[in-house]
Amino acid sequence: MKASLAYLTQEAIRFGATDSAVISSGDIRTDDDLAALCNGEYTCPSYGLAASCPPHVQGPEQFRKWQEKSRYAITVKIELPASVMFSDGRKEVMRLLHQIVAGVEKKAIESGFSQSRAFAGGSCKPLFCEKNKTCCVVADNLPCRHIDEARPSMSGFGIDVIQLMNTSGWPVEKTKQNKGGPEDSSWVAGLILVF
Ligand code: SF4
Repeated sequence: MKASLAYLTQEAIRFGATDSAVISSGDIRTDDDLAALCNGEYTCPSYGLAASCPPHVQGPEQFRKWQEKSRYAITVKIELPASVMFSDGRKEVMRLLHQIVAGVEKKAIESGFSQSRAFAGGSCKPLFCEKNKTCCVVADNLPCRHIDEARPSMSGFGIDVIQLMNTSGWPVEKTKQNKGGPEDSSWVAGLILVF
């Protein structure tokens, strides 16, 4: 198991992550209130548009059921200049995040962890299907057009991403992510439940 987990972190880095860590799945914190933010006081512009976002995902309750079955999880982060995070380049980085976690999920399944599940950040609709009027899964009950690379956002499952970063050994402060000065760095993170 230890060797398989180490292999998965190496693959995450090979796919483009800045770093990757192994954590206990039980240490991931979920919060119903965080999931509710997708359609809270300020509704996310992607709310309801894709199969991988609320209300089409099963949310924190289902995540906790998967969490119970999984002993370990792989976390990934991509570090980037804050100036990129707040520019058009952000989309490319977010797409890469989806591709990394989907790639690690595939490797985990190939390694015998057949139920492994990956979670990224940001809605897949503007990242992969911007030119399509609708998400074909939601609108037409068809398979996802980008099944090999698009994954659900952690937000819809109420995953506490700041806590996830800290548990991974990458300490962050809530406020740091929102700075945009020339010297500031930023990050995005993803997660693969291995089981
Ligand atoms: S079809 Fe497009 S919008 Fe729908 S889940 Fe797949 S990537 Fe997301």
